[in-house]
Amino acid sequence: MYDVIIIGSGLGGLECGYILTKQGYNVCILEKNAQLGGCLQTFKRGGTLFDTGFHYVGGLDEGQYLHRLFRYFDLLDLPWHRMDENGFAEVVLNDTSYLLPSGHDRFVETLSERFPHQRRQLQNYTNFLKRVGDGIADSFTHKDDQFKASLFERSAYHFLQETIDDPALRNVLSGASLTMELCPEKLPLYVFAQINNSFIQSSWRLNGGGSLIADKLAENIRRMGGTILTKAEVTRIIEKEGRITSVEYNDEERVEGRYVISDVHPALTLSLIPESQHLRKIYRNRISGLDNTYGMFTLHLQLKEHTVPYLNRNLFIYNNNDVWNHGYRLGSSKTSALVSYRFPKDGTGFTNNIDILTPMYWEEVEQWADTTVGKRGEEYKAFKQRVAEECLQLVAGRMPGLRDNIERFHTTTPLTYRDYTGTWKGSAYGIRKDYNNALLTILAPQTQVPNLFLTGQNLNLHGILGVSMTSILTCAKVAGMENVLKEL
Ligand SMILES: Cc1cc2nc3c(=O)[nH]c(=O)nc-3n(C[C@H](O)[C@H](O)[C@H](O)COP(=O)(O)OP(=O)(O)OC[C@H]3O[C@@H](n4cnc5c(N)ncnc54)[C@H](O)[C@@H]3O)c2cc1C
Repeated sequence: MYDVIIIGSGLGGLECGYILTKQGYNVCILEKNAQLGGCLQTFKRGGTLFDTGFHYVGGLDEGQYLHRLFRYFDLLDLPWHRMDENGFAEVVLNDTSYLLPSGHDRFVETLSERFPHQRRQLQNYTNFLKRVGDGIADSFTHKDDQFKASLFERSAYHFLQETIDDPALRNVLSGASLTMELCPEKLPLYVFAQINNSFIQSSWRLNGGGSLIADKLAENIRRMGGTILTKAEVTRIIEKEGRITSVEYNDEERVEGRYVISDVHPALTLSLIPESQHLRKIYRNRISGLDNTYGMFTLHLQLKEHTVPYLNRNLFIYNNNDVWNHGYRLGSSKTSALVSYRFPKDGTGFTNNIDILTPMYWEEVEQWADTTVGKRGEEYKAFKQRVAEECLQLVAGRMPGLRDNIERFHTTTPLTYRDYTGTWKGSAYGIRKDYNNALLTILAPQTQVPNLFLTGQNLNLHGILGVSMTSILTCAKVAGMENVLKEL
């Protein structure tokens, strides 16, 4: 009998495992894949390492919030590499480039050179972002609940319209936001401000890929006595007399536990509990009816050796006039891309891998929904080839000659994510938060079943920062907030 069973070893599941084993709980994590980490997984082809989800994080400088969290999670010793402070991101809007530098003051100074008439508004903007970022720890003490709730109920798009006069500057400020879904009718200000603030604070790549994070957490969990089982796909969660008593995996094995935490999509979690005294149909329908963000198409390029100099910043390339309206219409070509260079492992100054990511909606791949990895057919291959070509055309203006330096390439779509990580409809960032319906789209860790809790990107805020924050909120339900915060 375990104290806590955790379903899924994404960042959320592993961090919960870490917190609770550190608190003395006997924890068992069940992961369906052979590799741990969910969206932190890496894969190797032809000797080159590729990342699946993770590409960079913000806020890792001393005194910044992720630094504090990662110190607690023992992740600071990983080979973090600071991105260019003069421009961690370069936003390219119809061939015009803008650098976004690290540090709020430098951010205002640099952008004021391009938008001198907007200096005061830029100052107000960064002050506001700082306030939102500084308040992140208050989520644990409920000190700033009202402020946070008001930001979840406010539109990010309208905020920018109201506070920044120049539409070109609004585009630039939103330009590094392919790390979230810029949906003008839905995106809450909280998500926009918290994520942009953390990257402006400081931005970092990991030399070696996201799996280093998962592996380090797992190593520590095991060292502290926790159990992690891979190739253990949870097939049923069993409730008896109103409490979860055990979890079945691979259709035959069972583990018993006092508490269960699920790091998989809430709709998938509920579908694993066929019989329950607590889960009413209305709650199940509500959760399974929630929309999810778009997924991502990734073109993973393996490059010829020593041909492409490493660029210590991400490129965000758009060939449209409004980054908030890159809305997909079935059959239309891709108009936005995030380009991420892998840190050179050999110190030569040349990269051997570039990933180009572009949003992809479920509807684009739905016709192959009934297929499995490697068996999706020729039409699917042709579709991926076409999108890969669109991505290369999109970045060609900023990256001339890239095409000649490609050794080979691989592609992933939302179907790949669905099949490898169980993300609902291959969504990149989980349940779509909606400022019109904040109460419905932001989920609490507590479910209707007293000893079943949720964690991960679907609840509150996605990304490394959001998932880390949520893991604390979830574990506080089991171990008590005071105990968890004491360690932090
Ligand atoms: C393309 C892409 C790029 C991204 N880039 C960044 C970035 O640069 N920076 C950043 O901060 N964030 C980024 N993110 C977001 C970030 O990666 C995620 O928010 C975070 O990793 C999600 O962690 P999670 O624990 O919520 O879920 P997941 O990573 O989805 O983990 C869920 C786990 O549950 C397992 N599972 C599913 N079903 C079962 C089952 N039945 N039984 C057992 N196990 C099961 C899965 O295999 C998986 O391991 C990106 C995401 C994507 C998709």
